[in-house]
Amino acid sequence: MRKQSVIVPEELAVTTLMAVVADPAAHHSALLPPRSSAFGVRCARYKRFLSQLDMGSGGGGGARISAWVDSMRASSPTHVKAAAMLSASFAASHDEDYNKWVKQHPSALTVFEDIVAASKGKQIVMFLDYDGTLSPIVDDPDRAFISNAMRETVRDVARHFPTAIVSGRRRDKVFSFVRLRELYYAGSHGMDIKGPTKRTKHTKAKTKAVMFQPATEFLPMIDEVYKALMEKTKLIPGSRVENNTFSLSVHFRCVDEKAWSSLAELVRSVLKRYPKLRLTLGRKVLEIRPSIKWDKGKALEFLLASLGLADSGNVFPVYIGDDRTDEDAFRVLHGRRQGLGILVSGVIRETSACCSLRQPAEVQEFLRWLVEWKRSASLPRRTEARKK
Ligand SMILES: [Mg+2]
Repeated sequence: MRKQSVIVPEELAVTTLMAVVADPAAHHSALLPPRSSAFGVRCARYKRFLSQLDMGSGGGGGARISAWVDSMRASSPTHVKAAAMLSASFAASHDEDYNKWVKQHPSALTVFEDIVAASKGKQIVMFLDYDGTLSPIVDDPDRAFISNAMRETVRDVARHFPTAIVSGRRRDKVFSFVRLRELYYAGSHGMDIKGPTKRTKHTKAKTKAVMFQPATEFLPMIDEVYKALMEKTKLIPGSRVENNTFSLSVHFRCVDEKAWSSLAELVRSVLKRYPKLRLTLGRKVLEIRPSIKWDKGKALEFLLASLGLADSGNVFPVYIGDDRTDEDAFRVLHGRRQGLGILVSGVIRETSACCSLRQPAEVQEFLRWLVEWKRSASLPRRTEARKK
């Protein structure tokens, strides 16, 4: 891959965002207003739910099931609750809290000029989650289609920057939605990585481009658990088990909340025989994956290394995602003090991302702006080249 020169007008000063990117701690503690006590309480409760859920697969009992269901409920407001959240009194307090949260995690559209200034002279590399980021969250995961407009936008992004899709889904499944051969795909939470099969100016195409599969030894176990869960969850109307090759997803967005504890008990009864698997919670989905130290953050680092940019000070990775599993990637960027994490969320969330966008439509807008900025930034270079 060729390194890219990013041209930004000289007068663009080092901005607040540069400070944010260079020192996220300062961003949270000094540059912005303190969080409200209510927000702090909510975050503490949220963290407690997360710790309860980080349960591995062994052990169990009623208390643990209760903790699971609490976690499922906390991350998955029902339609009834969602409607209640729109009531006038709630909306007023929500707006107040949300506005405070957005000051700490500003919209990537609002601070767009700061973002491109921070990337000055650096190679932007794009990492995009799929569900809830490029496509809307829908009841049927098989129908989480990307719009043609979003696909064209991502195609444009890949013309200008190395671009990867990083998803919990099976790699070939997410490819069947996106259908762009010029991208990198990291499926199963980054445990199944394949490079582009179509050449771009940034990437070489390879027909056999599977790059990394760190969990192949778990394939028979995953398949066994998938069959067991398929059989057991027949008893729970609306539940859905998805085989992501190196991980499994148990979707419960269409399950009556009264049946969540039964579903959690069924999943626990299967997983207790597999201590090498672990369970985490996504957006209305239970995720089961091997207990190996590999996640979306590791996938990000692997892809940067494969691009020859692992130790480069001249790289600006941008990761956009909406899921809790995307936090692993946000934390890697935070640790590298490099690039930018953007959380897609219309509600307050505890996150290691610096910026936010509310929904996929805003993600598309941000990507379009990035493409337009890159095109306009390249124009003087092209003109100069023609003169020579
Ligand atoms: Mg997602």
